[in-house]
Amino acid sequence: MKARVSHGLSAVILAVCFVLVAAFSSFASVDGALSEAGESVISGWAVDAEHPDKSVPVVLCVYTDGSKEPQELVKVTADQYRTDLTNSAANGKHAFSYQVDWDKLKGQSFIIEAYAETDEGRVRLYGSFRYTKKEAAVTVVAAGSGPAGDAGPGSKGKADDTAKRGALLGIFETTAYCTCTQCCPNGTALTYSGTVPQANHTISADITKYPLGTKLMIGDVVYTVEDIGSTIVGNRLDIYFPTHEEALAYGVQSVEVYAVE
Ligand SMILES: [Zn+2]
Repeated sequence: MKARVSHGLSAVILAVCFVLVAAFSSFASVDGALSEAGESVISGWAVDAEHPDKSVPVVLCVYTDGSKEPQELVKVTADQYRTDLTNSAANGKHAFSYQVDWDKLKGQSFIIEAYAETDEGRVRLYGSFRYTKKEAAVTVVAAGSGPAGDAGPGSKGKADDTAKRGALLGIFETTAYCTCTQCCPNGTALTYSGTVPQANHTISADITKYPLGTKLMIGDVVYTVEDIGSTIVGNRLDIYFPTHEEALAYGVQSVEVYAVE
């Protein structure tokens, strides 16, 4: 699906699929993201690039207390104006928001995802958020501060003492992925550059701007561009996590990204 990264060889296979699908449907043209799931509001945006004049229906789904089966929370329409959407979508009226009352939902802990409804079925929008009752919405896990004590190879590359923070490159929209089939439909264990992805190390970037091998700093972690994604364009990064759960927990975060000296 458009929503996810294509890795290595699968990029070719996916590209072919996209062309075939796009030839007779609008399936592949929907883009969007879940931007926030907080105390009282769930919001995001969705746009059909081929029909930017149309409003996309979006279904919000929740996984409750670790359930593997999502439940529909509500259907909304992405027709609200958001200034930052005017670039990618002519009229900018492609945002959605939903006033949520968590207390009315059974359960304690929720993972929220959003799906655009198209004629051909549902397309998952970028990002997901975790919300836990009685606590503030857990949307920010500082990049690189994942579970401690992981002494495996996945922890390599963390907190590089010799790296110096360079110039601020900007505020990037960052998402997260793992190598599961949800994140990478025709998943492979290797990155686009042929490496084995590593936690706190591997990121996907727009390699026309940040070529493979480029080092980028988020927090105190130095990441290396090793992968690509079909929607990872411009100031967007996709951060690799070893498990889908961690990727889900990361959600979508706007973070400062620095060059490395
Ligand atoms: Zn995954």
